[in-house]
Amino acid sequence: MTDFVKTEDMAEALPTTDGPPKDQEAYDRAREKGWSAPEPSNYPAENGTEAQSNEVPFVEEAWMHSAQKYEWSEEFGDVGPKITELEAQLFNPDLKPVKGNLFEKQVSSLNLTSIKVIAEAVERPAPIRDFDNAGLHPVIVENIKLSGYDTPTPIQAYTIPAIGKGYDVIGTAQTGSGKTAAYLIPALSKLMGKVKKLAAPRPNLANGFNPDTDMVRAEPLILVVAPTRELCCQIFDESRRLCYRSMLRPCVAYGGGPKREQMDELRKGCDILVATPGRLIDFMSNHPNLLSLNRLRFTIIDEADEMLHDDWEKEMSKIMAGGDTNEDGNHRYMLFSATFNKRMRKLAKKYLSGDHIRIRIGRAGSTHINVQQNVIWVENNEKQKALYDLLISMPPSRTLVFVRSKKTADFVDDYLFNLGLPSTSIHSDRTQREREDAIRAFKSGRAPIMVTTGVSARGLDIRNVMHVINFDLPSIDYDAKMSRTARIGNVGLATSFYNDKDEGMADYLVKILLETGQPIPDFFAERVPEDKKVDFEDDSGAEDDDEGAQDGGGDSW
Ligand code: ADP
Ligand code: MG
Repeated sequence: MTDFVKTEDMAEALPTTDGPPKDQEAYDRAREKGWSAPEPSNYPAENGTEAQSNEVPFVEEAWMHSAQKYEWSEEFGDVGPKITELEAQLFNPDLKPVKGNLFEKQVSSLNLTSIKVIAEAVERPAPIRDFDNAGLHPVIVENIKLSGYDTPTPIQAYTIPAIGKGYDVIGTAQTGSGKTAAYLIPALSKLMGKVKKLAAPRPNLANGFNPDTDMVRAEPLILVVAPTRELCCQIFDESRRLCYRSMLRPCVAYGGGPKREQMDELRKGCDILVATPGRLIDFMSNHPNLLSLNRLRFTIIDEADEMLHDDWEKEMSKIMAGGDTNEDGNHRYMLFSATFNKRMRKLAKKYLSGDHIRIRIGRAGSTHINVQQNVIWVENNEKQKALYDLLISMPPSRTLVFVRSKKTADFVDDYLFNLGLPSTSIHSDRTQREREDAIRAFKSGRAPIMVTTGVSARGLDIRNVMHVINFDLPSIDYDAKMSRTARIGNVGLATSFYNDKDEGMADYLVKILLETGQPIPDFFAERVPEDKKVDFEDDSGAEDDDEGAQDGGGDSW
């Protein structure tokens, strides 16, 4: 359902596809304003057959699952030699985060009382202050440096010692707070010195790979499960960086990508498997010789709150039980997400050890205090025009546009594209190839405007997004989570289109505006509380009734 209304403008601008721009004047104007020219995409058929001869050949790099990993040769000692080319690719400075306000805020918040650590354990590990003196394996410390991480984020400061000491962990912190590294760093670091002892035998890929003789069963030590394909690709990417020069080999498996090729990668050996639940279950159930979870040391569920819907219960049980056969029972479980809810507590009760540690990084006052928030009144039938005017009036910058429905995403993308703006879009009806291409185009700057439904963008780490536009605000019955999606690190400006259909979001928006000390538009005037106080306590922790936390439960640090 969408309350999208076609405007006059739209009717003119539609439909799309390649060929000369529909509106030469608009096209020229966009060039004048400095936006790069839009490029049409052409995709080969999804099933991997060649592009039709009249199509532009698909020239982008291959699928994410076949992205180059550091390949170990048995001749190396404990640390492999540098490979300059791979290093440049993995730690490409263009892809590194530019430290934004969010990070500085987060790091400095270490000294504030906003960090809530609930330890259902006898011991409460002290947070680390830097990566150098955290008892981490030297290879991972180097990779952290190469990744451009100078200081641990709060969630990392607490999870690294907690996981280091062997506890099960639940980590809750807002999007963009570095949760991926918060579990990967300590888990990988723990394994790095012991790969020879713990990992499955595997072919020496330095001599090439002959599937007939060299093929092995994948027996990962770490399993990371995440709800979306894009997230899995991102986590896999981070694993590739953190595993650089180590003996650990990461692999990724997700729906939509060619199954055969993903299986071939697994058959070369796999120490860290990042997977979506669907593809994982498929591999577990239908290909018994492909994958064994018997060696698992860590099972990590990322964006756990997303994955614990009732319809996933059976699958989750299967995944969580997958490594139960681990001989010495030395198997840690971790749940990570931006919010903590009842379902997670249920899962924790069932699978996590009784003395797990729960780390919740509260919102550090105003984590987005330096983000300029604008709320402007735009009627539904004027949104496209307003969006165009907004974009064309601003210096070109990486912009994410959130819309409510897939249909709107298509329309708005076409509309902008036909007016000569370099836009792209993603939503869940796109093929995996299209989604990967769109994200790449957005990340590389080829298409610096991306239109997306909030759901498909959830958890995506897209660096250097300067402007987030909430074209549609989430409807009232939709979890306010959506609006958090817009809090991506480094965002400089957030603009929300508002009209009387969005009343359900009004108080939330007023809160944000007050919190960030920004002018309140007239249409919100009556909603401002007398004392202008804002209370964000319920933002990530309303569900957090702490019933299970006895000892020291809920104290602030
Ligand atoms: P989350 O899962 O909490 O949403 P991510 O793990 O996706 O966050 O990380 C968000 C961004 O922060 C990524 O670009 C990541 O590379 C970066 N990052 C993570 N840890 C650090 C750190 N210690 N210093 C600087 N950047 C970091
Ligand atoms: Mg994440």
